[in-house]
Amino acid sequence: MSAPDRSAAVEPPLALLAELTHRCPLQCPYCSNPRALVGHGAELDTATWSRVLSEAAQLGVLQVHFSGGEPTARRDLVDLVRHAARVGLYSNLITSGVQLDGARLATLAAAGLDHVQLSFQDADDAGGDAIAAYAGAQAKKRAAAALVVAQGLALTANLVVHRRNLARLPAMIEMAAGLGAGRLEVAHVQYYGWALANRAALLPTAAQLVEADAVVAAARERLKGRVVIDYVPPDYHARQPKPCMSGWGRRFINITPSGKALPCHAAETIADLDFPSVTDHALAAIWRSSAAFQRFRGTAWMPEPCRSCDQREVDWGGCRCQALALTGDAARTDPVCALAPDHALIDDALAAPARDALVFRRFEKTTLP
Ligand code: SF4
Ligand code: SF4
Repeated sequence: MSAPDRSAAVEPPLALLAELTHRCPLQCPYCSNPRALVGHGAELDTATWSRVLSEAAQLGVLQVHFSGGEPTARRDLVDLVRHAARVGLYSNLITSGVQLDGARLATLAAAGLDHVQLSFQDADDAGGDAIAAYAGAQAKKRAAAALVVAQGLALTANLVVHRRNLARLPAMIEMAAGLGAGRLEVAHVQYYGWALANRAALLPTAAQLVEADAVVAAARERLKGRVVIDYVPPDYHARQPKPCMSGWGRRFINITPSGKALPCHAAETIADLDFPSVTDHALAAIWRSSAAFQRFRGTAWMPEPCRSCDQREVDWGGCRCQALALTGDAARTDPVCALAPDHALIDDALAAPARDALVFRRFEKTTLP
């Protein structure tokens, strides 16, 4: 293939998140998929995904993350992995692991898969199966991790943490390290979509957060040289928001199962933006010049206090989807910021009474045609 085009004024994205499908046998109540899920019949076909992968490589993308839903639900996953390898993309499979078997994994590895990211919801079977609403999920995940390691593929374990499982974080880290993961991502739930609906049941306390920070620091020391640990804190307890997606339209592009191009997986919630589809437009044109990708790119869109803040090119004003979800306006400063006019919303959420009941991610209630 020809060399990537790096000549344009807008830097190319580094990574493309390919949400191949919203189908998934699990029902995690903090799933990052939107509340309105895309039905099987509306998914892009193999030829369109292959074209998107070719265009991504041409644009300068370095990595593709095959995600979902559960990407192994796509029968053409091997073809797409093979195509990604052919056009020079590093490929990562983000999976729950419950549908992986040795033969499928060997085929994926032979097709050029580079890396597998496997999520774990808890340390033990009871906790893992309950939060995923899937009997046997945790055992299947452990088996999948063993297959990935045996296949010689790099393995990252995603450890998703929240109020209900933080007491078992040390055991989760030991389990994942024992399974042979070279990298752990300890990620607090981020409160959008399904997770926002479950915030009162999942948001950790300040004391839990202090304890989790200490657990991660100790594990990093203990596992130094053997396992790398990334840590994603819950931003509700922070004074400054995270630099969401490293800035809108700066590093990442996300394609939904039906082909909408988004600057992040939650951006479709911003209903007054018209996100273009890869079925109608070339990826380069979407990235460089679509109105939706320009809307919050850079700093010109910022209101005060961000506009005159020396952190505006550090955190990019935080998360647009969080601003929308909490204030009703995507163009406001992320309320997580202690300087934000809406910061009291975060204090209120932290002070709200905890809830036990969970809203599970169920397809049938919210499926689009
Ligand atoms: S978070 Fe859970 S429900 Fe959502 S796609 Fe991943 S495994 Fe499936
Ligand atoms: S005011 Fe805006 S730019 Fe400054 S720290 Fe807060 S969110 Fe970041």
